[in-house]
Amino acid sequence: MSKVGLGDKTLFWVDTWLGNEPLKIQFPNLYLLAVKKKARVLENYRTLNGGRVWDWVWSRAPTSEEEKQEMENLKGRLQSQVSAQGSDVWFWKNSEHQEFSVKNVKASLGQRLDLNSAAYVFSWNNWVTSKCTTFMWRAIEEKIESAAALRNRGLNLPDILCKTCGAAVESAAHILLSCNFAKRTWELVTNWLKIPMVNVEGSMRDILMEMNEIQRSKSVRKAIYAVAIQTMWILWKTRNERVFKGRQGKVQTVLEEIKEASYQGVKLRSKHSSITRPEWWAFNIIL
Ligand SMILES: [Zn+2]
Repeated sequence: MSKVGLGDKTLFWVDTWLGNEPLKIQFPNLYLLAVKKKARVLENYRTLNGGRVWDWVWSRAPTSEEEKQEMENLKGRLQSQVSAQGSDVWFWKNSEHQEFSVKNVKASLGQRLDLNSAAYVFSWNNWVTSKCTTFMWRAIEEKIESAAALRNRGLNLPDILCKTCGAAVESAAHILLSCNFAKRTWELVTNWLKIPMVNVEGSMRDILMEMNEIQRSKSVRKAIYAVAIQTMWILWKTRNERVFKGRQGKVQTVLEEIKEASYQGVKLRSKHSSITRPEWWAFNIIL
């Protein structure tokens, strides 16, 4: 049992901190949808104007009646929770007076945090800008401002369907992978890179991990990985231009942009600055 302050030591779904049972028992359907099952409370909210905006990564947004009902109940609970200041204080179950020893808490947290980070494999790639890398991180966690993410944060959006295809809820995974526009882009990109088509129904994390295991030289693999990040970044930019400026991007133009941006990255940021434009455009590179 713990009393939650900032939520830095308490696992959102696993520990008992809101009600008499862990949230995963109280809200089993929502728990199934949460991507980060061992997230600390702290990771599931942002502070905005002194208040808390609850926001976490879903494998998909709640859709069934049961899921929506649980979401409403959980929202109510979270809103009524008085947020104390300062670090969380732990208590033994049924005894609010006896605090865990700091040493014990740290030991168990250490193990938990290791479990968390192991699930988040992401290799650093300095052939793309840090802006792209940060974007990639946020996209993997569904934290970029897609319509679905905005709605999950409590914004009342009338329409959260994808503005490109209109066929699905606009999540980060949809914009960057499963949308028909993204799929056609990936077909052109993988064809250019001479690698198998990615699984657009899978996750961004899986795709990046697969790219890391492609049987090429280490440097070519790094180039492919950089292109993958660049592809998602440019798909996001294209989406924003469509949503905010009404510009209709073409898949072929997007491919050219990806080639150009990744070429500039490799020229400026890698030691392979002798690669020529025609070599890169044909992805005929020996690194
Ligand atoms: Zn779409």
